[in-house]
Amino acid sequence: MKIGVFGGTFNPIHYGHLRAAEETCEILGLDKVLFIPSGNPPLKSEDLADALKRYKMVRLAVVRNRSFDVLDIECLKSEKSYTVETLEVLLRQYRDAELYFMLGIDAFLDIPTWWRPEQLVSMVNFAVVSRPGREFGEMLSSPYAKTKDLAESGRESLTLELRSGRKAELVKITPLDISSSDIRRRMRAGRSIKYLLPEDVESFIISNKLYSPVQ
Ligand code: ATP
Ligand code: MG
Repeated sequence: MKIGVFGGTFNPIHYGHLRAAEETCEILGLDKVLFIPSGNPPLKSEDLADALKRYKMVRLAVVRNRSFDVLDIECLKSEKSYTVETLEVLLRQYRDAELYFMLGIDAFLDIPTWWRPEQLVSMVNFAVVSRPGREFGEMLSSPYAKTKDLAESGRESLTLELRSGRKAELVKITPLDISSSDIRRRMRAGRSIKYLLPEDVESFIISNKLYSPVQ
């Protein structure tokens, strides 16, 4: 069994995340994608909705997809959570599965700033999705990349070997220039966010007065 593990703040979840999961499932032949919203950081920022609310929005977004699931392991923790620890739990839980940690190019390039990055890149394989404004070529500048050049093949996915012995599958998905920060900005400006994210999530944001316009 192949399982995608999709971590993020999901503040809020949007169609960019959902298409990334759907297309990665299809292209890499994943059986399942586990969405893992992050917990509350020790210093709460104004802009970040409470972890439980972000979890609920992900649940609303994935409930009708039998291949998608949402886990509360990070958002129920009172102490800070680290990807390495989350993956340790999942590796124990899904012993016979092949796990792919899913993330966008921007997030993969950010890994050196995470906790125990060397350990992280040796634990699992990665599924790195394309994102508007970023190129797969940028992956070659990652300190964890072993592959020296990426031949443009026109294929939907390319394999980048990592120095750790693991691999990153680079998955070319439909470019959707949607971000949570843009959605929050629109909410603050009192503008529409319709069609950028599922309707149930939009209703949840409105009824819970999340990302409210500045008074
Ligand atoms: P923010 O603007 O607050 O950073 P975001 O839209 O980047 O929000 P995150 O929760 O930070 O969303 O992202 C979780 C993961 O999803 C990251 O790995 C990110 O690269 C990826 N991702 C987010 N939006 C897209 C998108 N439109 N296309 C492809 N990948 C995306
Ligand atoms: Mg982001």
